[in-house]
Amino acid sequence: MKPLTDHETTETILWTVLFEQSGDAMVVFRQDGSVYRANQRYVDMLGYTLEEVGSLHVWDWDVQFSKQKLQEMLLAADNSSAHFDTRHRRKDGIITDAEVSTNGALYKGENLIFCIVRDTTERKYTEERLRQNKELLERIASQVPGALYQYRIAPDGTRSFPYFSEGFAELGGLAQEELSGTAVDDIMSRILPEDAADIERKAQTSAQNLSHFHAEFRIRHNDGSIRWIECRSTPEKETDGSIIWTGILLDITQRIQAEEQVRIMAITDGLTGINNRQEFDRLLEHEIERASRYHTPLSLLMYDLDHFKQVNDRYGHNTGDTALKTVTSLVNNNIRGIDVHGRWGGEEFMVLLPQTGLNTAKDVAEKLRQAIAAHQFNKLGSITASFGVVEFAPHEKAKSLAQRVDEALYRAKELGRNRVEV
Ligand code: GH3
Ligand code: MG
Ligand code: MG
Repeated sequence: MKPLTDHETTETILWTVLFEQSGDAMVVFRQDGSVYRANQRYVDMLGYTLEEVGSLHVWDWDVQFSKQKLQEMLLAADNSSAHFDTRHRRKDGIITDAEVSTNGALYKGENLIFCIVRDTTERKYTEERLRQNKELLERIASQVPGALYQYRIAPDGTRSFPYFSEGFAELGGLAQEELSGTAVDDIMSRILPEDAADIERKAQTSAQNLSHFHAEFRIRHNDGSIRWIECRSTPEKETDGSIIWTGILLDITQRIQAEEQVRIMAITDGLTGINNRQEFDRLLEHEIERASRYHTPLSLLMYDLDHFKQVNDRYGHNTGDTALKTVTSLVNNNIRGIDVHGRWGGEEFMVLLPQTGLNTAKDVAEKLRQAIAAHQFNKLGSITASFGVVEFAPHEKAKSLAQRVDEALYRAKELGRNRVEV
């Protein structure tokens, strides 16, 4: 082999190492659009052979620009570099995206255009897929009641919301713009302090065991109201040690309110709004247990309206109902907050007086009797009630206490009604 001159060596290295073996597709055009030289990568990209490309022109595969435009571009190429996106039609007809960097130069007496070409089809496809996925996520998120979110705690304790859907702002009554740029602490401070500690504890457990996180808590809405939020999420550990939760937040205020309503309905007498028999029984047991444990006095009084059958007969059942409501509210107004008022039966009621001995209880009963007797009832005029009063005896059962107070009440009736018997 004839030894190469220094100049030839440099040329050979440039063309073989840099051009032929380049990972990028490279092509050199003449100003008339024909191929001066192309590397394997370039012809592979287009699906042609080197020989085929040699007899073609750039407009045979560039579909982005017209032949005229390409001719103009070739003539305008000078030694400043240019970058643009274009599209190629491969030999098999498939259109691909490409990114081209060009440089014009005079080489061995010829004006040549040196091009580096990158196939961006894959990248564009990936970008499009990402865009579509993002759009899909947003569309799904907008259908979900509440909000989807991600919450991260970094190893240094820094907290952030890498993602949240539009509903996130709505939960707290915030404007969308208000939320971007809002510090995590500002958002978290909306959680009521009574609930925040519980959430923090659950988050720590969830982070430690990578276990599912579930909490129901209250937040202060922007309109000042308190809202119940349910949160469900799953944690993952990231390579840097961060814990990131992905999950959902739901406004469960209505559910909680409905549950509370059902709970209240279950323990309340529908007509008078005081404790029903079942709830009164429960509270009676509770107070008996307390009085036994702390050796405090406990008294029970029972009252029954006098000749109420006649009231109904004369004025009708509705008027009777109204009278019952009035009587119970008269009693409510004359007892303490800790006293327990309950409907025992039709027009028989009980009042449980914690920390109260027999004498005081008798005074309370007398006060209640007078309050009822003094009241002018709508349509009916006056109504009276008879009272029985007893004090809880050590070790006594609720049943026996109720029986004794019933007996006392019976005596009050026998002794002429509108009176208190112990
Ligand atoms: P007494 O002085 O002996 O108590 O005579 P009374 O007529 O009140 O007799 P009793 O207590 O046995 O009668 C209860 C009556 O109360 C029967 C029923 O007509 C009436 N009553 C019971 N529950 C209701 C109610 O929810 N609404 C109305 N309007 N009346 C009721
Ligand atoms: Mg009665
Ligand atoms: Mg009765």
